[in-house]
Amino acid sequence: MRLVTFSDAAGVRIGAMDEAGALRDITAVAPSLPRDMLGLIAAGPAALATARDALGKAPVVHGAKILAPIPRPPKNVFCVGKNYHEHAKEFAGSGFDGGAKDVVPPFPVVFSKPHTAIIATGEPILSQLDPTGGLDYEGELAIVIGTGGRGISKSAALSHVVGYTIINDVTARHLQKRHSQWVLGKGLDSFCPMGPAILTADEAPDPTKLRLITHVNGEKRQDALVADLIFDVPTLIEAISAAITLEPGDVIATGTPVGVGIGFTPPKFLKKGDVVRIEISGIGILENPVA
Ligand code: MG
Repeated sequence: MRLVTFSDAAGVRIGAMDEAGALRDITAVAPSLPRDMLGLIAAGPAALATARDALGKAPVVHGAKILAPIPRPPKNVFCVGKNYHEHAKEFAGSGFDGGAKDVVPPFPVVFSKPHTAIIATGEPILSQLDPTGGLDYEGELAIVIGTGGRGISKSAALSHVVGYTIINDVTARHLQKRHSQWVLGKGLDSFCPMGPAILTADEAPDPTKLRLITHVNGEKRQDALVADLIFDVPTLIEAISAAITLEPGDVIATGTPVGVGIGFTPPKFLKKGDVVRIEISGIGILENPVA
């Protein structure tokens, strides 16, 4: 099931995409369901089963605006840096990794983006917020936590995942480098496009099979299998939850594969008018213009 958050004249609520890609108004036929994604996730497997049953008889919604599936997660969006081997090499070789000691990190590199950075598919990335002219894209698979917890083991980790979505970890490279950290270069407003949907974990029992492809203005830049992750989904959940309680609806972006703008010589930075399109098999297409 592909769950979405949308708005129309009747307000903001959750829906689901059917097999043909049409948006269905599941709460119209299952009024007991929470109308927001965090509420649905917190309600657990029984609510998801109700949503799945409702999908077959729910009316199609026309003219709705698709929002980020979780417009405001419980915490900042967790992100993981340098988590694909080939990308770790291109980043180390780019000269933009201000704080780097190792090409391949021995432990996951974790940072976060504030919720104010989150935008939906179709909404503009605000290039004017990066006056340094180093705007870059990073297509990423993101984990959505279902059942929360602290001290989650690798072996139990996948049972805590409710689904997967796409994030563009938009980055101001010069800000990332000159402040020797990742928050100020990646947490800018509009720098966290998310969506279009959450693919429920039952339809992606092995996330390593998912394939991520990024195009900029129709030119393919990234094409990788999640199997190439340095630290896989269970390892990331174990590392982050070791001493931080994960809550239903928390989001973890898992890192980007090779092919970002600074991987090219000279760098292919984004500019006003560009369009970044990230597709992950089964989840959908996250496409954002640069304004
Ligand atoms: Mg990233």
